[in-house]
Amino acid sequence: MNKLLEGKNALVFGVANERSIAWGVTKALHEHGANIGLSYAGEILKKRVVPLAESIGSTFVEECDVTKDEDIAKVAEKAKAAFGEIDILVHAIAFANREELSGPYYDTSRAGFHLAMDISVFSFTALAKAFQPMLRPGASLMTMTYYGSQKAVPSYNVMGVAKAALEASVRYMARDFGPQKIRVNAISAGPIRTLAAAGVSGFKGLYGRFAEVAPLRENVTIDDVGNAALFLASDLSARITGEVLYVDSGFNIIGIAEDSAESKGEAATA
Ligand code: NAD
Repeated sequence: MNKLLEGKNALVFGVANERSIAWGVTKALHEHGANIGLSYAGEILKKRVVPLAESIGSTFVEECDVTKDEDIAKVAEKAKAAFGEIDILVHAIAFANREELSGPYYDTSRAGFHLAMDISVFSFTALAKAFQPMLRPGASLMTMTYYGSQKAVPSYNVMGVAKAALEASVRYMARDFGPQKIRVNAISAGPIRTLAAAGVSGFKGLYGRFAEVAPLRENVTIDDVGNAALFLASDLSARITGEVLYVDSGFNIIGIAEDSAESKGEAATA
């Protein structure tokens, strides 16, 4: 196999378990030869993340709560010591309190708004700043977003507002980092059953209907996101920055949802 990331160093933030999008990304980067370091949120996740890291031969597994500047500084320092330079930084982190992810958006509390913005938006900016001194020219930074940034989606609420801010920060950072030949992009994934998704009230309904409505009539997997991340991490996407790449079976291009049974019938009789 022609490996796309041989000799590149990647740091992935956001593996909680084997269902995490960050794990799909990690597998794809690993298969293509990247040296990988993993960072996870806190002690409780350690017992899940360490065996996953071992399964890909990764020895860099560091805790980092992105709400803490000192944690970010520490993980950056350790990464510098372990890898020297970084080529790929993956941010697959988001959080909002469960009570903010149901009912009307206007019920969002001030503290809940701040927390969602801090963990889901600012952390990407803070990580980019902390790692900036060790990013190699040609490096690729990426984050994970969702269509709820563009359209009002039931229960997604403050997270939709956070994703809109995250996508805007991708554009600002792409501008900042561009002259250093460092790229910044986002992947907008269709709904996937993960720990984070379980916190969104009514996610099951959203997930089930998705495959009926999306043009490709298929749900998205963490491996689909991993493959798109591989493209964004590799030199194949060398002139792409500031973009949001949809990995959503085409869901976002649909104006009006059709009944899939009806449209299948049409296709069969056409
Ligand atoms: P996940 O629960 O597996 O991952 C979320 C990660 O965020 C976890 O590893 C969690 O530990 C981490 N995190 C939360 N607070 C943190 C903190 N203070 N410090 C460090 N890490 C923290 O769920 P996922 O669905 O894989 O989510 C990854 C990303 O993908 C998120 O940004 C999410 O919004 C995005 N996304 C998910 C979907 C979906 O349907 N699952 C769709 C589009 C985008």
